[in-house]
Amino acid sequence: LFGAIDMAPRDPILGITEAFNADTNPAKINLGVGVYYDDNGKVPLLECVQKAESKLMEQQAPRTYLPIEGLAQYDKAVQELVFGANSPVIQEKRAVTVQALGGTGGLKIGADFLKRFAPDSQVYISDPSWENHRALFESAGFVVNHYAYYDPATHGVNFEGMLASLKSMPQGSIVVLHACCHNPTGADLTQEQWGAVIEAVKAGGLIPFLDMAYQGFGSGIAEDGAVVGRFVQAGGPLLVSNSFSKSFSLYGERVGALSVVASSAEEAARLLSQLKRVVRTNYSNPPVHGGKVVATVLSTPELRQLWEDELAHMRVRIKQMRDALVEKLKAKAPGHDFDFVRKQVGMFSYSGLTKEQVAKLRAESIYAVDTGRICVAALNSKNIDRVVDAIAKVL
Ligand code: PMP
Repeated sequence: LFGAIDMAPRDPILGITEAFNADTNPAKINLGVGVYYDDNGKVPLLECVQKAESKLMEQQAPRTYLPIEGLAQYDKAVQELVFGANSPVIQEKRAVTVQALGGTGGLKIGADFLKRFAPDSQVYISDPSWENHRALFESAGFVVNHYAYYDPATHGVNFEGMLASLKSMPQGSIVVLHACCHNPTGADLTQEQWGAVIEAVKAGGLIPFLDMAYQGFGSGIAEDGAVVGRFVQAGGPLLVSNSFSKSFSLYGERVGALSVVASSAEEAARLLSQLKRVVRTNYSNPPVHGGKVVATVLSTPELRQLWEDELAHMRVRIKQMRDALVEKLKAKAPGHDFDFVRKQVGMFSYSGLTKEQVAKLRAESIYAVDTGRICVAALNSKNIDRVVDAIAKVL
């Protein structure tokens, strides 16, 4: 039965981590990851999370099953965060939210749900996009295409190209958009450009699926989430997956959600019943711990404030690393302009380094993705000089 099964392709990013782990050079640096590290090169355990966990430990609650759609307190907190507490879709009970296994789980529930109710639609993802978008929607049975997005010449968004792509999509196409902090490029749309995108999505009868894996890493929690409110205002169907992997540094707890906006409370109830069917037939119901931690933090005023402060600290540190990288490269590689790194947002930068340059960096035990993507959140005050010296050498 299994004799003829081929080896599946390796995950390119996890392959980098494997090579990094096998490297015995004590000065090795991994910029290939998609994880926030603090200035000591450690994945933080946020204080708000520790405090919420202490509180939960005291309660010694039994570990019963959660409802299929997850913890009610969590789903409510997610809606308020994603749509804004005063959103009409919450007041009118038009939004449904299911707790999911990270942002990936939210995308997968959404993909399976859409395949059931829009089976003939095709999916469009940005060129380039997070590498799992394609695989995930293909495995749900969709044909996946690209829309124009990144412009290597400007290291920013090819906005004309993007709009032209949107306008050429058949009605009913599913368009996956990064709500903020585009992975892998770090190039985001301006508020004005979002306006034009929303108009094109609406005019073309497209189905927008917002992937918000980095809320709070761009300009702020409300600022980064504002695009969701703008889509709501434009009307029509909307799906939003969100993740707390990065914003709560809870990667392995798998905490995320899928929210879907319906046109009425009655329609929303029908949608929820179908989303529950997808969940029930996949893993029945989500795990308790991460959802409880996030719900506790978001609904306890002092923990919520602490979280916002800790998230702001992560956001500011990344920006400082962007500034430092630009300034230090200016000094060490004066003929090269890296100012674009400052304009990019979130954890990543498409650095413009070529595959050959990335290979040369690897010979120095500095690991980046072949596409030139570096994780700015893996830079710190101790490793940045070595990174800058190595980049200057390979340029
Ligand atoms: N979408 C994007 C754009 C991402 O970068 C990531 C995480 N790398 C995810 C979704 C998935 O997040 P999670 O780890 O919570 O599943």
